[in-house]
Amino acid sequence: MSVIEYDVIVIGAGVAGLTAGTLLAGQGLNVALVTAGEPTACLSTGCVDVCSQNENPLQGIANLPDLHPFHLVSSETILQALTDFQQVMTDMNIPYTGTLEKNRQVISAIGTFKTTCLTPLTMESSPQSIDEKIQIVTFTGLKDFYPSYIISRLQNASFSTYDARVSTTMGIAAKFEDDAFLEAFISWLENLNISADKIAVPAVLGLESATAIMKRIASRLKRPVFEIPTIPPSMPGRRLFNALKDHFRSKGGVIYWGWPVVGVEKAGRLIEAVTAESRGRPNSLNARAFVLATGSFVGGGLHAERDTIVEPVFGLPVHVPSQREGWFDQDYFSANHGIGQAGIMVDTSFRAVGCPWDNIFVCGAILAHTEALKNGCGHGFAMTTGHAAARSCLEYLQ
Ligand SMILES: Cc1cc2nc3c(=O)[nH]c(=O)nc-3n(C[C@H](O)[C@H](O)[C@H](O)COP(=O)(O)OP(=O)(O)OC[C@H]3O[C@@H](n4cnc5c(N)ncnc54)[C@H](O)[C@@H]3O)c2cc1C
Repeated sequence: MSVIEYDVIVIGAGVAGLTAGTLLAGQGLNVALVTAGEPTACLSTGCVDVCSQNENPLQGIANLPDLHPFHLVSSETILQALTDFQQVMTDMNIPYTGTLEKNRQVISAIGTFKTTCLTPLTMESSPQSIDEKIQIVTFTGLKDFYPSYIISRLQNASFSTYDARVSTTMGIAAKFEDDAFLEAFISWLENLNISADKIAVPAVLGLESATAIMKRIASRLKRPVFEIPTIPPSMPGRRLFNALKDHFRSKGGVIYWGWPVVGVEKAGRLIEAVTAESRGRPNSLNARAFVLATGSFVGGGLHAERDTIVEPVFGLPVHVPSQREGWFDQDYFSANHGIGQAGIMVDTSFRAVGCPWDNIFVCGAILAHTEALKNGCGHGFAMTTGHAAARSCLEYLQ
């Protein structure tokens, strides 16, 4: 078995793990990130939900239930984490817009409005009311976008269809990186003689160059152009993930991709190493500290068994609603399924409550009582707790 030594090992490549890893690597530490696979960010709209319970995200956080882990983070840290994020995304040519003072709306692939805090610049012109005059463009065969639903909700919208000769979200996005394809698309748009005030397209404007592509179309058509996030797979979510991943690497961080952690080595009050599997071969990764950012059930950080819920990496104590009957509400679409509260309870240093080891820090959607979708505490919460857990880890190592 090969043995590799680091200062810190981060487990999980979601927004929480990448934020924590980047902060630690930026302090000159030798950081490795080990991940089983892609994070939930790749399924997301790419918009950063901080707290969607109130028009003002910070006010929304203040009103969250007492046990919500957002209360462990100061407003200064929240502001810092979001400001750092916006700077990183600007540096990576995927600028974001929005402020912590006010949530905004983006229209979805089925015409509903989603409340969020920061959005990619390509969604800045998303309508804020149902009566804006919008020309929607869709693509032949694209199944992840529903313009007829959208126009049934927006009073002054209509749509046209362009044949990109491919029909998948990723396939069309790849085509937009080609200059000849983009030019042909713009010419086609010009010939439509659009009278609407804005042009909407599904979020397929390139794999990486969406901002530049959007600006070029807008300047030629002389009106705002915006992307509408498709249902997964989502290009804006993937762009977000790729940018954070590249930024982490630019700080010297190392990523072990497709290496699920399957075992740990302990000595007294410390974890000494994790064992990660690559193509069936075990690899021991030693470190002085560990950041657990494996997400909730979707990410793989929590696993439900018949009567209990486990955290499979370290076997940390998991907060579980006491009776199994309390895990689910009778209404399938309810936002109040008790299982949503399951997760790891942490103290102010982001160490798990009841954990016998001193060198594990926990962040992101794996934290108990997060209820990311119900509270609208998605990537904003993940990056904020990633930031706070990394600070705590840094203090411990110093
Ligand atoms: C369908 C969907 C859509 C969403 N849309 C939005 C949105 O539009 N905006 C928003 O702000 N939020 C959204 N969210 C919520 C948001 O994605 C999450 O709350 C947040 O990003 C969680 O980040 P995380 O880093 O904690 O975990 P995750 O993103 O879940 O990442 C966990 C990582 O851990 C890895 N992992 C798990 N187990 C192991 C193991 N044993 N060994 C190694 N690696 C492991 C996984 O492979 C993954 O890389 C959405 C969530 C879902 C499910």
